[in-house]
Amino acid sequence: MAEFRKEQEEKRRQEMAKVPGLIQRGEAFKAKEIMTSHSSPAEQGLWRELAQCFEREGILQTAMMIYNRDGYNAERDRVAGRLGLTGHVCCNHADRQAIGRCEKCGEYFCIGCGEEWANHFACNSCLAESRRDWTSRLRGW
Ligand SMILES: [Zn+2]
Ligand SMILES: [Zn+2]
Repeated sequence: MAEFRKEQEEKRRQEMAKVPGLIQRGEAFKAKEIMTSHSSPAEQGLWRELAQCFEREGILQTAMMIYNRDGYNAERDRVAGRLGLTGHVCCNHADRQAIGRCEKCGEYFCIGCGEEWANHFACNSCLAESRRDWTSRLRGW
């Protein structure tokens, strides 16, 4: 069992060793994929570097999610400015900074009320609705 864990840790470190190079080359999505499954709490600073990489690549919505989640408020506010979110709060939570504007309904939402992917953002209810539509179409309803 201890042997197994050691192997796992070795594999994890090998994967994580690729991340700085990916960040340097601007391959933010690949780096994020590795970090999502392999990063440890000790490597939190790397998430910030990754967010900066997304920002450099112009993928602002994803940079915003990482800054917001990890408490980098100054960076979050800067990206919020670039995304036109300054001064907007979540339409469900008046005390939370909006981190995205839903592309479907046009309302502003906080991190708990919406989801980002690549450079897109939608609120949970619009997402649920499009998933329902999509499933219905697949089933031929
Ligand atoms: Zn929406
Ligand atoms: Zn909210």
